[in-house]
Amino acid sequence: MNALFDKWDPEIQGERTTELSVLIPLYNEYEVIQIMYARVTSVLVSLGISYELVLIDDGSRDGTPEMINRLAEEDSAVTAILLSRNFGKEAALTAGLEHAAGNAVVIMDADMQDPPELIPDMLRAWKEGADVVCMRRRSRAGESWFKRYSAHCFYRLLNGISDVDIPPDTGDFRLLSRKAVNALNKLNERNRYMKGLFAWIGMSTTVIEYDRMPRAAGVTKWGHLALFNLAFQGITSFSTVPLRLAMAGGLLTALFGVLFTLWIVVKALVLGDPVQGYPSLISMIAILGGVQLLSIGLLGEYLGRTYYEAKQRPVYLVREVMRRGKNAGQPADIPSVTTEA
Ligand code: UDP
Ligand code: MG
Repeated sequence: MNALFDKWDPEIQGERTTELSVLIPLYNEYEVIQIMYARVTSVLVSLGISYELVLIDDGSRDGTPEMINRLAEEDSAVTAILLSRNFGKEAALTAGLEHAAGNAVVIMDADMQDPPELIPDMLRAWKEGADVVCMRRRSRAGESWFKRYSAHCFYRLLNGISDVDIPPDTGDFRLLSRKAVNALNKLNERNRYMKGLFAWIGMSTTVIEYDRMPRAAGVTKWGHLALFNLAFQGITSFSTVPLRLAMAGGLLTALFGVLFTLWIVVKALVLGDPVQGYPSLISMIAILGGVQLLSIGLLGEYLGRTYYEAKQRPVYLVREVMRRGKNAGQPADIPSVTTEA
């Protein structure tokens, strides 16, 4: 199915009648799907509003696509979006936001680290006028001290050097009003560091604190290297301070070079000491070479990002969208999976 055609289009699909969309990206989450579906559905049904559950499969290889397709067949409230390969969580979220029909959209992880029982609180804050309801982690159970500490440092650093203000200890778990979702959908950059984009749009924001749970099942999909890459992407997408630092470093080095040259010249002319200086020469060459390569590498990083932007490739490709009934805003069926899990 064509991705563009299937995005929400009021001309084709009529006015929005869905109050709430819940977006969940999934990558190899076979083990948690049943638990997740049962818990989320029981919360949503109890709210008594029209909702849709948008499950985005990010190219899983473990039976996740078949499973969510089945859910979409059984439950008219479920929309299953299958991406053509693993594009990463940021792209999966972008796909979800573009396909969501609701007046409010809640984004959460599949592993139930973000408790769906908080959705009523988020809706309340939205009804009270917030366009963005950020969920802030009071605690992060089941995560290593290294991950907590590095996350803490990273957000402080990013806020310090960028023009966006990301509230500390908030992740992707949040509610966005239709206005906020439309704003996000308008940002057409390819490099989608979502936490940065969420902060970039601004709008009236309410922060709610919660305790982050350990994973319900399965393992984390983020290795240390992937997290490092994400952090690097965040910094280079939202700040050019590193480039300015390189310039400042160059300026300092040049200044030092001038002073050092003066000293060498004076030493040679006044003290008559023309040949000495092999160690200083070699160390200068080594330091300057290092500084230059580092700066060129940094420049290359930004150039590379510009290169990817210039290609204008789509952020994701959809293999298939499964939605029972044309109107995803119809009241949901009673879920066929037991909710005791
Ligand atoms: N995820 C995804 N694509 C990826 C990696 C992760 O859609 O390439 C999803 C994953 O299925 C989960 C969410 O992103 O719903 C958060 O992933 P995870 O729980 O592994 O990250 P952590 O909570 O450990 O940071
Ligand atoms: Mg998780």
